[in-house]
Amino acid sequence: MSQDSRKIRLIMDLRNQGVTDTAVLSAIEKMPREVFVEEAFLDQAYANQALPINCGQTISQPLIVGLMTQGLQVGNRHKVLEVGTGSGYQAAILSKLARRVYTIERHRDLLAQAEKRFTKLNIRNITSMAGDGYKGWPAQAPFDRILVTAAARIVPPELVAQLSDQGGIMVLPVGESGDVNQEVIRVRKDGTTYHSERMFPVRFVPLVQGLPEYKSATRRRE
Ligand code: SAH
Repeated sequence: MSQDSRKIRLIMDLRNQGVTDTAVLSAIEKMPREVFVEEAFLDQAYANQALPINCGQTISQPLIVGLMTQGLQVGNRHKVLEVGTGSGYQAAILSKLARRVYTIERHRDLLAQAEKRFTKLNIRNITSMAGDGYKGWPAQAPFDRILVTAAARIVPPELVAQLSDQGGIMVLPVGESGDVNQEVIRVRKDGTTYHSERMFPVRFVPLVQGLPEYKSATRRRE
């Protein structure tokens, strides 16, 4: 079966499973997921499943990307923050729907790979940075939309603080890592109040606070 027919089947699958927003489906249809997967998994680029990427992380399942993106209700004037760049696929999908996307990844190797993919695909409205996304990106706040693609134990307060208080929406998985009871939550903020609603169960890699330790030849020892 060709990649094109696999892709058509995937889009039908997503539609059957609740991704009905045509702008979201069209962004997924136009984005070459094969650019974001590791070479060993090229033949599975359009399978509806998560796949391993470097640093022990995963590129999310297309259905989850579709449902979370749809739930985020992204408009073309929106400034969006994504936490957990990973392969860069979710950020690339958001870049087709929003005005500008800011994305943060704690593994700088993953970030470098993702940035190469954005350049290759000529995507110009993504700004990316290596850092701890648990703290958000204060210099660029407020954001109209925030999407977190790693599971937090609680809704990170700094992220709520960086959400626009005029109808800002954040979508994020919440729950213990490895827990089968993680859930995607949608937070809406108006003024100083916000309320959250449960969307669907999910299983994500954990949102880890702080940065990984890199072995560096220049690091000094006491
Ligand atoms: N959105 C990604 C999915 C990546 S998996 C994609 O489309 O491919 C989640 C990612 O979140 C991992 O790459 C992990 O390293 C990253 N992550 C986990 N905790 C983080 C944190 N505190 N700050 C930034 N990135 C984090």
